[in-house]
Amino acid sequence: MYDLIVIGSGPGGYVAAIRGAQLGMKTAIIEKYPTLGGTCLNVGCIPSKALLDSSEHFHNAKHTFKTHGINLNNLKVDLKQMIARKEDVVKQNVDGIQYLMKKNKIDVLQGVGSFVDANTIKVTKDDGSEEKIEGKNIIIATGSKPASLPFIKIDKERVITSTEALKMKEIPKHLIIIGGGVIGMELGSVYGRMGAKVSVVEYMDSLIPSMDKTMGKELQKSLKKLGFDFYLKHKVTAVENKGKEVTVTAENSKGENVELKGDYVLVSIGRRPYTDGLNAEAAGVKVNERGQVEVNDHLQTSVSHIYAIGDVVKGAMLAHKAEEEGVFVAETIAGQKPHINYLLIPGVVYTWPEVASVGYTEEQLKEHGKKYKAGKFPFMASGRARASMDTDGLVKVLADAETDEILGVHMIGPRTADMIAEAVVAMEYRASAEDIARMSHAHPTYTEAFKEACLAATENRALHI
Ligand code: FAD
Repeated sequence: MYDLIVIGSGPGGYVAAIRGAQLGMKTAIIEKYPTLGGTCLNVGCIPSKALLDSSEHFHNAKHTFKTHGINLNNLKVDLKQMIARKEDVVKQNVDGIQYLMKKNKIDVLQGVGSFVDANTIKVTKDDGSEEKIEGKNIIIATGSKPASLPFIKIDKERVITSTEALKMKEIPKHLIIIGGGVIGMELGSVYGRMGAKVSVVEYMDSLIPSMDKTMGKELQKSLKKLGFDFYLKHKVTAVENKGKEVTVTAENSKGENVELKGDYVLVSIGRRPYTDGLNAEAAGVKVNERGQVEVNDHLQTSVSHIYAIGDVVKGAMLAHKAEEEGVFVAETIAGQKPHINYLLIPGVVYTWPEVASVGYTEEQLKEHGKKYKAGKFPFMASGRARASMDTDGLVKVLADAETDEILGVHMIGPRTADMIAEAVVAMEYRASAEDIARMSHAHPTYTEAFKEACLAATENRALHI
């Protein structure tokens, strides 16, 4: 009998298993694929960042090196090598998880895990053989899969999801992206930087619609410079695949049809929670109409010793959110009283410029009737950004009009994915904009833009603008 069985080895599952083992639990983890790490390490965060880095090098070599005084001739992309390097990066990471399982004495079972009853899990291996294991506590961490629309047939050749976009055999001539969210903009950037024409069809009126509206607008400006075309407020009604040509039909806000022809269509309209084959009903675990496993504030399912975490439950579909929940559940089982502040889970888009955000958006503050002040600082006014020619974007700080407490920070610019951590720490400690404005930030760094935006929010006293 295990103290803890974890089903799924993504960032939620493997982190829960490690924390459980650290707390002295006899732990097993079940993964249906031969490699550990889930979506994030195999077909998500890590491979996409590997390709974003490679394509950024190419883009810079082609477009900005000359200005730096570096001349390169006959530059071309070796896509096969680029994909091979990405695969090597993935391998290093998934092997690392295998090592961590061993180090923490966690039993790894490869196969599909399904409930027999509330304490028994059957593991069906690739060769069809079965093994049953029992656990006092079980964590469902089965993640998510790409979502689609009922009338779109994903053929994985021309009409593809993010998984195929990470292993292309050629650079698309015209990549049509359905969905202007994070994954679409990241993968669109990869191929846009390497010369593909990219068209984005989005139903809402802005890109990355769940983030602060300023971010979507600024990102659109930057991606436009990369040659992206945007069809916002367009509802896709048909996708037709005729061999090497794919046609996307969309209806604009006037009710007119717009037809786009490309060689690849990336469907990136979001992800759906994944519980296929889990047989959750055998344990009495409730799955709602959206496919999410229902949980309470302690991440307990309808059966108290069965928990669920990560993409398969409500909330942001992010690796670090899944990790926090993994630690939370392991510590709860061990009798501790952990805590997650969901408001302060940052969101990041790894385009260039990067977008990073934490706390309330300006739209949410307006909606809640909260009195706030906004301080902004553009990267154009940053010496560091001018030195690296990364002047697109800005930092926006939203602070309480009366107390000056920081309520939200939204950044678009160079390395904001890393910079947002300072805002998370500040907000976790309930800092005021003036607190940050009075702290020394090394010069010249991009982080000075955060300090300046805080100065702007304090009494409109930014120094460099
Ligand atoms: P997953 O990582 O999906 O892992 C679930 C695992 O469970 C899988 O390995 C699956 O095979 C296994 N499984 C499912 N059912 C069973 C079963 N019955 N038996 C055994 N095993 C099973 N998030 C970020 O925070 N930052 C990023 O930069 C980022 N980039 C992304 C880029 C792309 C292209 C994509 C697709 C996603 C990205 N994400 C990113 C999202 C991130 O990958 C997910 O939020 C994260 O992986 C969720 O972790 P999880 O543990 O809940 O599930």
